[in-house]
Amino acid sequence: MDTFFEPLMEDMKILWKTGVQMLDEYRKDLFTLRAIIFVMINDYPSLFILSRQFKGKVGCVVCIDGSTYVSLDASKKLVYMRRRRLSKGHRYRLKKMYTYFDNNEELHSTAPSRNNKGQGGFQIVGKIKFVFGKKTKDEKPRKEVKPILGATFKKNSIFFEYFPYYKELDVRHTIDGMHVQKNVFESLIGTLLDIKGKTKEGLNSRMDMVQLGIKKELHHVLLENGKYHLLVASYNFNIDEKHAMCVWLKNLKVPFRFCSNLCSILSMKDHTLTNYNSHDCHVMLTTFLPISIKAINHVFLKMAVTWLCYFFNKISQKVIERYELVSLYEFAMETVSQFEMCFPPSLFNIMVHLVVHLVPQI
Ligand SMILES: [Zn+2]
Repeated sequence: MDTFFEPLMEDMKILWKTGVQMLDEYRKDLFTLRAIIFVMINDYPSLFILSRQFKGKVGCVVCIDGSTYVSLDASKKLVYMRRRRLSKGHRYRLKKMYTYFDNNEELHSTAPSRNNKGQGGFQIVGKIKFVFGKKTKDEKPRKEVKPILGATFKKNSIFFEYFPYYKELDVRHTIDGMHVQKNVFESLIGTLLDIKGKTKEGLNSRMDMVQLGIKKELHHVLLENGKYHLLVASYNFNIDEKHAMCVWLKNLKVPFRFCSNLCSILSMKDHTLTNYNSHDCHVMLTTFLPISIKAINHVFLKMAVTWLCYFFNKISQKVIERYELVSLYEFAMETVSQFEMCFPPSLFNIMVHLVVHLVPQI
């Protein structure tokens, strides 16, 4: 990655100093164009590479050392379930609601401040010395850089060196909304339709609930024959609900080039969706999913899914008013909290957590 960027950096350095002569069509005159890298949009793995952050337990590239996670022993996953971004006094923070979430006290907790924006981010990484390249001049391989004293970054970004304005930017790397939508949709539809390999439901997820001491009505029951009985949860669609949803999608007629043919990704035999691409996930989440689940019986689950779809629809609009962002941020927090009430803890991986960071980056 670094050797790829080095020639680019040289070009950008020259470009920033000299600029480029461009024709202004309206004034019929030349002007000097100076380009800057204002923000980069990356999917989640690229965010780690470009921000030079260590992968591992510091799972969130925005919260950094303020990330809080729960390690699920049965599912062997780290999940991010906190309600500390909700407004103080919100009903979901009350003590009687703990068992609906992760059983943690959230009455007075506050969200971590973003200390990596602007000059703060430069001060964290500015003192780190790192020489790029795989080998030294005498052909000896370099020693691997390891985190020291809880450090979250392993090296300084090369952009700080070449772009004088770079350390002033509040958001240098934004989250790829399409990547988040695809992963959230995959987890959601996999759990709702019980798609093999995609679902978060199973014995392990019920063991996670026992570990956290939540949703006691869904804990697994050991039978006399040594097998486990899993009680039906709200997110377990019965065969009629699955069939109604798939029939609605199958009979759907859409405008030309609106989305790919949904019949090709839909299997009526086992009621699953497969081989969908990012745009299909986007269209489903923003338009079709809340309508297709109208036949399900559980009202609260239906409301939570519809709210999530409304949120993704709202942030996908070309125009969003500035005054809407505050209420939209609170709306996103509340929607993720409702998901925590409905779904098993193993659903709340880092991609679902990133939903709460989308609005501040708009
Ligand atoms: Zn975060």
